[in-house]
Amino acid sequence: MNLDIKINDHGGVVLWSTAVIDGHVDDLPRIVTHVHSDHTKYLSRSARKSPHIIGTPITLEWLLALGAKISEEKLRPLNFGEALQLTDCNVEFRRALHIPGTAQVVCEARDGTRVVYTSDFKKPGKETPIINSDVLVIDAVYGDPSYRRFFDDYIDILLADFVKESLAKGPIYIHAYYGKVQEVMNLLRNKGIDAPFILDPKQYILAKILEKHGWVIKDYFLNTSDEAQEVMRTGWYVYFTHLFRKGVNGFGTHVRLSGWEFRTPIKRVNHRWWQIAFSDHADFEGLVYYVKMAKPKVVLVNSVRSTGGYSFVSYLNKKLGIRAYLLP
Ligand SMILES: [Zn+2]
Repeated sequence: MNLDIKINDHGGVVLWSTAVIDGHVDDLPRIVTHVHSDHTKYLSRSARKSPHIIGTPITLEWLLALGAKISEEKLRPLNFGEALQLTDCNVEFRRALHIPGTAQVVCEARDGTRVVYTSDFKKPGKETPIINSDVLVIDAVYGDPSYRRFFDDYIDILLADFVKESLAKGPIYIHAYYGKVQEVMNLLRNKGIDAPFILDPKQYILAKILEKHGWVIKDYFLNTSDEAQEVMRTGWYVYFTHLFRKGVNGFGTHVRLSGWEFRTPIKRVNHRWWQIAFSDHADFEGLVYYVKMAKPKVVLVNSVRSTGGYSFVSYLNKKLGIRAYLLP
């Protein structure tokens, strides 16, 4: 097994001299697993110096919508399950439940060695398929054993119930990162919430792109449109905005969605603000479960995008007897 797989100083997973995932190396094709900023570092450099930028169609369109400047001929959309032959390996995307468009990357070398980079995910073994591998590359986002959320299995229901109850009193404002907003819009519709959605311009464009790719969201409006103004006069709506956007402070209940809370699923911050511990990431237990079930020969833990990476590696080594290294 040729183990020439490195993780560079900004978290890029370098596969032989074939490609780099979620990082930059001059002249190598770049694979982007999803649009979050910790996975798109030095993207403008890649736009200039990489021969191709490879991602799912949603990820590539979202990158452009969020302001990335990449020329059309460099974009290489790859659908889930479709194979792409690169110099030393075959690449394929598999789904991951995180934000829309997120892909796990499976690379099969000529000698049959299978490398998997999970990217960000939650609900392993359910909505995120666990992929067997020889070499598993994983970001231990919640790598310390204390990062456990006992309420992860029912946080979707808690969030939907909270929104329902709040809507009975007035509008509700949900503040979250790009991608999480669209995931939550989908979740609320699936849980039977049919109040109109009001979106700020970027969130609106991202939602439009999803619709083009077959997502059904229904009843969502751009905040500045006449329809939105009319809806807002009724006081019955869910307003979605990017986390930390200033100036969105209308009358109603405000909710910040954050994964960095392990004790209380729903917490009151002050008379108008609440925090709900809705995360896009598996907690410590979810990460361990993925590794156990994937049965890799070696695990490479990406220290750049990990919290508690060292604890995670020593847990895998000592408690599970799985060979694991923290890189770089
Ligand atoms: Zn992410």
